[in-house]
Amino acid sequence: MLTLSNPICISNGQWMVPIDFLTTVVPRLTPQVVEYKLGTDRAFVGSVKPGTFSLRLDSVTGGARLTVQFTDKVAVRTASVNGKWVMYLGDQPFEPLESSFHFQNPYISDVQFDDQDGAPKLVITPSGGGLNFYPKVEEGGRILLADVLKPPPPVPQPSRAFEQAPATTAPGPAMTPSPGIPPAPALPVVVLDAGHGGDDAGARSRDGVSEKDLAAQLVARVRVALLATRKYRIVLTRIGDVNATFEQRTVTANVAGGVYFLSFHAGDLGGSSPRIAIYTYQSPDQPSTFPEDETRLIFVPWKDVQQAYLTQSRQLSEDLAQQIGQIAGVTTDAPTAVPVRTLRSVNAPAVAIELGSLTPDENAGALTDTGLQQQIADAVAQVLAGSKAGKSAP
Ligand SMILES: [Zn+2]
Repeated sequence: MLTLSNPICISNGQWMVPIDFLTTVVPRLTPQVVEYKLGTDRAFVGSVKPGTFSLRLDSVTGGARLTVQFTDKVAVRTASVNGKWVMYLGDQPFEPLESSFHFQNPYISDVQFDDQDGAPKLVITPSGGGLNFYPKVEEGGRILLADVLKPPPPVPQPSRAFEQAPATTAPGPAMTPSPGIPPAPALPVVVLDAGHGGDDAGARSRDGVSEKDLAAQLVARVRVALLATRKYRIVLTRIGDVNATFEQRTVTANVAGGVYFLSFHAGDLGGSSPRIAIYTYQSPDQPSTFPEDETRLIFVPWKDVQQAYLTQSRQLSEDLAQQIGQIAGVTTDAPTAVPVRTLRSVNAPAVAIELGSLTPDENAGALTDTGLQQQIADAVAQVLAGSKAGKSAP
């Protein structure tokens, strides 16, 4: 049987038949349609409709923007490998019009399409070291915008999703990347995810305090507390009051190569308030059968990415519960594993921290207390500062 809906790769010289064989003889042996375009290295058997894309590079302030427009929606998964950025394009086959793009550009030198291992992907090579990468999926996966920028100068408030701790930012203006001088090793990244946002306010208290605002306040405090440790850089999954999708949040986290992912929420936890619950991910389908020691698989299904980190995530949740539990007046529940969607595809130890109780029956009360928020933020920073980054930086 021929495998349908999968591309067959044909290496030159390995098939001792005329190339016409593909489109003339094979269809007589099988009822399938065979498509092969002369000069390419792949043929499609069966009623496969491969996707394609167009690609463009533009200059933006302090960097370059790559715009990739797909013919179909694509679930992009990203990874950083050997100083390059890899964008996995799901499991649909692709037939690009061109597979290699070279640019005379100070930020991006090459983009290659590759599906030799069966996983279609774009590999982006930056022109120099020390550049930051900010991908963004738009129109439900039809457009990918990837900005490659110089690190922003130190500012008290974040203006971009990616920022550097003040101690590691090079002094003075650095107008061009200097490929000859290797950049100082970057600090590991912690990704902070403020739940909800925009028109999704999340839970709400009787006196009108919304979950999205509480989550953003807490993230702002955790961010400052973590930067003060000078051990981490911070990436935020949303800046301001916008509602990012689960996929956008996860893509932001995975492209940044975060060593920890913390998602902040508030809701009805019942019982006394203030109260903290900490969750790790559990698959809704069945207990994990994913081999935890095989984290170096080339291709991991997007929905199983978190499975490789469950043990580390659990350890992190226990350390956090232990530290936060020391705050006077706060009840801390034992950490539990539940199918938290936002953690499902995160490529790092990941937890969700929920503040309670935020319910329409009660006022928010102590949850808006800045002193309490600061104590929680300090406890989180203390745990992460005292730990060896759970996942080694790429
Ligand atoms: Zn929530």
